[in-house]
Amino acid sequence: MSEQIVIDVKNLTKQYRKQVAVNQASFQIKKGSICGLIGPNGAGKTTIMKMLGGLVIPTAGEMSIFQSKTIQEQAKARERMSFMIETPYAKQELTAQENLEKQRLQKGIPNRERIREVLELVGLSEVGNKKIKEFSLGMKQRFGIANALMGKPEIMVMDEPINGLDPEGIVEIRELLMKVNREEDITVLISSHILSELSLMCDDYLFIHHGEMIKHLTGQELMDECRNYLHIHTDRDELALAILQEQLNVTRYEVKEDGSIDLFERLEDVATVSRTLFENGVIPIELRTGGESLEEYYMSMIGGTEHVECN
Ligand code: ATP
Repeated sequence: MSEQIVIDVKNLTKQYRKQVAVNQASFQIKKGSICGLIGPNGAGKTTIMKMLGGLVIPTAGEMSIFQSKTIQEQAKARERMSFMIETPYAKQELTAQENLEKQRLQKGIPNRERIREVLELVGLSEVGNKKIKEFSLGMKQRFGIANALMGKPEIMVMDEPINGLDPEGIVEIRELLMKVNREEDITVLISSHILSELSLMCDDYLFIHHGEMIKHLTGQELMDECRNYLHIHTDRDELALAILQEQLNVTRYEVKEDGSIDLFERLEDVATVSRTLFENGVIPIELRTGGESLEEYYMSMIGGTEHVECN
């Protein structure tokens, strides 16, 4: 069975006077996936999300959500989505529960139990009766997600929910989004300007730069592009490979045109590789690790001219 596409965008463009914020962006989002929208500040991420949410009218292009064909169908489809874009999550003076109750009434959700459910889901059960102003940034982000979950959305669109969090907070939000994706079967579109924040979480990555979609990669493709390796060049490369296969059981490698080897395993164990070759009469001439970190890869993709935060 082919993968079901829940969002299908073709040549979407938004122009503000002379400023082209998004230029002919095309992409698809698969049902059940976590899709990362990644780009530096001003790349056009928020504008894309706002167009998906109907908050900004596109200048040109097409958008189909849950196969919607008309504007009316699109509006109906948006009821199955929730958005966390630049909006204040909540009234600071009210407690988490009171805020969620407001949201419940606004959305006409009959079941009061849903408040308890979402607070439990995001790990805020214990602090439901605390005022939002007393929450840490990480708790506020969790609350934002609880808020977004209230109406049992099928797609959640989150604009930089990890922005400003410390490394521990990043992991918490990442795990939470993965959990709701898995357990509640929610498709997630999440943006960030820091690629490593999104790594380990997304099934697909959409790279946007100066309003243009410059690359689409699956999580696996991204890892392959950035993967690290041990480059091995010896006085007898063919024999070296046979030794590594026989003695160290290596299976993940690439033989280069000149016969040298890029080994994608044993990277932490260079000494063993070197000793094994040497003890079997092969002299290593070059033995070095190579590859790019996620942020290096990202910088090289966007030309390395923009300021991109690395952590
Ligand atoms: P950030 O991470 O800084 O929010 P972004 O990738 O979300 O960046 P957008 O907010 O979508 O980027 O902005 C894309 C471009 O469109 C920017 O150059 C921005 O200045 C411009 N832009 C956005 N909204 C407007 C507007 N209402 N009027 C004029 N220009 C706008």
